[in-house]
Amino acid sequence: MSGGKTVIAIDGPSGAGKSTIAKALSETLGIDYIDTGAMYRAIALQILRDGIDLADDDAISVMLEHVSVDQVSGRTLLNGEDISGKIRTPEVTAMASDSSALPKIREKLVALQRQMGERKSVVMDGRDIGSNVFKNADYKFFITASPEVRAKRRFDEFTEKGVATTFEEVLSDICERDYNDSHRATNPLVKTDDAIEIFTDDLGIPEVLETVLGKMTAL
Ligand code: C5P
Repeated sequence: MSGGKTVIAIDGPSGAGKSTIAKALSETLGIDYIDTGAMYRAIALQILRDGIDLADDDAISVMLEHVSVDQVSGRTLLNGEDISGKIRTPEVTAMASDSSALPKIREKLVALQRQMGERKSVVMDGRDIGSNVFKNADYKFFITASPEVRAKRRFDEFTEKGVATTFEEVLSDICERDYNDSHRATNPLVKTDDAIEIFTDDLGIPEVLETVLGKMTAL
């Protein structure tokens, strides 16, 4: 705790259940939840809407100068428009994975994320929260699971929503995103030495939440 305010960083690869845990944790503790992945997805949606080529550095700079991204009561706003329901498509997912490697985009969103966590207590999830955005976070968790289990969870979610895909497709997408996240030059996904790792292959959400809360009490 610093200044009566708490920052909880939750990092890990795609599909490990970070956002479900972060949301549940924020409700249990009565503090805000910031989904940084949704912020990268919002920028990706803007890039797709503007038809920007990621190699066009000037166009990216102009877009970043004019765009605004915010999170209010669990909704993601892009230039004031609630785009929460538009950022989970395969196109936005793929563009977010590629565009989040651009240093300019990271610089803008990391600055915004720091502002959000400076004002109040937050649970923030992403890939570089404990390693970069809030290196001094009060609590750092690294939530992970094997690619196969993460793909199975995603595949089940897609099936439930009636999205046509195969397990192999979902697994290959997860592996590609893992590679992109951990190999980019700027703020790659890493587990810091001071983060508590929770491997969730054999754990349900309530058990992970209990483990996180238990570790927080023990610290
Ligand atoms: O977590 P989510 O899958 O919604 O994130 C979308 C994309 O944004 C990821 O593929 C990842 O590459 C990127 N991301 C990031 N840094 C973060 C959060 C997300 O690079 N802190």
